[in-house]
Amino acid sequence: MQNLKLPITIDPYKSAQRRLECEGVFQLSEMKRLLDACVSTQEQVEVSFQFDVDELGLVVISGKGSASVGLTCQRCNDEFVHELEIDFQFSPVKNAEGADDLPSYYDAIELDENGEVNLRELVEDELILAIPLIPRHEPEDCNAESDTTWGELPEELDKPNPFDVLKQLK
Ligand SMILES: [Zn+2]
Repeated sequence: MQNLKLPITIDPYKSAQRRLECEGVFQLSEMKRLLDACVSTQEQVEVSFQFDVDELGLVVISGKGSASVGLTCQRCNDEFVHELEIDFQFSPVKNAEGADDLPSYYDAIELDENGEVNLRELVEDELILAIPLIPRHEPEDCNAESDTTWGELPEELDKPNPFDVLKQLK
C-alpha cells in the first residue's frame, strides 16, 4: 500500500492492470462545491483506492474515505461536527450510454478527454452525497427547546385534557 499525496486524475485501465492500491489525502480547501454545503473542520480528507478488473472484465475503482465537517443544525441553528463516511464502487464509462450497460452495483464515472478519471471530483461528489438531507444534532446534544419535537415527557401528562376545555366553558 503506497501512502502518498493522491493523483488528481489517473488512467483507470492502466491502474487496474497493475492492481494498484493507494491511500492518501486530498485537501479539503480544494473542494469548493463541498465547502458551499458545509464548513471544513480539518484540512484533509483521507481516502483509499483500489483498482481492479472484475470477472466480467470491467475496470473497477473502489475505495473508502472519511472527513469531518461542520454542519448547521436545522433545529437550533448551531454548528456541529459530523463525520462524512464514503464507500464507493465505480466503473469508468466513455459516455452516458455506457453507464446503462453497467451492472447496478457499480456507479458510472465518465472518462475525461484524456481517458482519465478525476479522483478528487469523485471523492468530492461522494462527500456531498454523504451530507445528511436535514442536518441536525443528536437529540441529546441539540440546543433547541426540547418540547418542540422529542421531549421525553410522558405523553399523557403533556396532553391537555379535552374535558378541561369543557370545564372552562361552564
Ligand atoms: Zn441542534
